[in-house]
Amino acid sequence: MRFALLVLLLLAVACGGSSVAISSPEATRSLAVSPTATPAPYITVPPTPTPVPTPEPTAVPIYHGPPYTIAIDPGHGGPGYWGASARDPDGNLWIEKDLTLAVSTRLQQLLSEAGYYTILLRTEDVTHTDWNSSDYRASMIAETQERVHRANAVGADVLLAVHFNGWRDAGQRGTEAYCNPDRGFGGESCELAWFVQQAVVQSIRATGYDIFDRGIKNDAAVNGDPQNQHSFLLGTNSGFSPSMMPGAILEVLFLSHPDDFAFIRREDAIEVVAKSIVEGLNQYFAWLTGY
Ligand SMILES: [Zn+2]
Repeated sequence: MRFALLVLLLLAVACGGSSVAISSPEATRSLAVSPTATPAPYITVPPTPTPVPTPEPTAVPIYHGPPYTIAIDPGHGGPGYWGASARDPDGNLWIEKDLTLAVSTRLQQLLSEAGYYTILLRTEDVTHTDWNSSDYRASMIAETQERVHRANAVGADVLLAVHFNGWRDAGQRGTEAYCNPDRGFGGESCELAWFVQQAVVQSIRATGYDIFDRGIKNDAAVNGDPQNQHSFLLGTNSGFSPSMMPGAILEVLFLSHPDDFAFIRREDAIEVVAKSIVEGLNQYFAWLTGY
């Protein structure tokens, strides 16, 4: 059952391809997974190019001076929306929704200290919408819509979702981030994903753990859908009011991989990850504004 939830989570929130090219201004940096790497778990990428939707008008101006507003989405929450989970050798259960909130809460503090405006899209172990456990997909969409509404309402410059990964193949490991290149601000979104993901990889490596670099991926091709819908958080799915700013979904590490999980349990893990995300955001805005 837990893996069923994981599968749903991965399909619904953060699916992508193992080597999907990202049409950012520097597309060659799109970090195809090396041939010797373990295959990514998302194996249902359509073989043919998919149509690119007409970009909708951008509601949030991309270029302006600081302070910038960061909408932080701590992935999952509440009694029915756990995300991934794993049990440590002492029998303690580690749940993705708790880790995402811990990282996001610390991230908000650090960003505030650095002069950013922030909005934390949940501050407790909750969903904002009623969670119907018999309809995971509809519940997930409704909750995601509420969080997107909140990010849009404050005119955030960036929407960053923090997640941790899990997969039934315990060999899958590493850090990855997803973006939607098919929006009007797709280039910005994928640079954002790149800067944040690379900062996390480098900061974790600096601690001595040789984290696997999974790169950035297109959030499209959910479940191999030939219509190639993007994630609800970053996409323009029908019946859904889309996010109106560059965004990315960060998948920090795999709870299901022994070494990744060992790093997650380190005392300094939350701090290392949160600080690295700040660095990535600083680099994104430096790139965006040309400084
Ligand atoms: Zn998640």
